[in-house]
Amino acid sequence: MIKTKNLSFSYLEYEEIEELNDDDRELLISAMKSAANAYAPYSEFMVGAAVRLESGTIVNGTNIENGAFPSGICAERSALAGAASNHPGDVPVALAVAAKNSNGFTGDPVSPCGNCRQVISEEENRNHKPVRIILGGKRNIRIINTASDLLPLCFKMESHGFTHR
Ligand SMILES: [Zn+2]
Repeated sequence: MIKTKNLSFSYLEYEEIEELNDDDRELLISAMKSAANAYAPYSEFMVGAAVRLESGTIVNGTNIENGAFPSGICAERSALAGAASNHPGDVPVALAVAAKNSNGFTGDPVSPCGNCRQVISEEENRNHKPVRIILGGKRNIRIINTASDLLPLCFKMESHGFTHR
């Protein structure tokens, strides 16, 4: 018997950064500032990310490209790797992303790529804590309550027999 299953999710959209709450605005501004540190000589697309940890600590990341293209890393994973490496046990609760080129920040926000969605989702799963996603653009800002909304039915450790502690 075939059943049709439906998935839906809601997110918030803002027009002005001033409309965000203090924590979200601080995190997005931090992501925007860190975009200046990107190493993106090939795409000239500079992405900044900021992860807020449970303690309130903010860890930044940028995209770091490489002449061997697949060796580059996205800002989101760069930030999460830095956070996990330097602040073990202090779990991510929010992640902001902003991107710019020579014309300035994008009008519509950029969204994490598939690889990053997978990595953010595993952070949520292993910490049993949702990561709030804040995507900033000049025209609008999107807030998604949990990364798993961006990657439904995702591959999980449990899928190959492992369980999180
Ligand atoms: Zn990515």
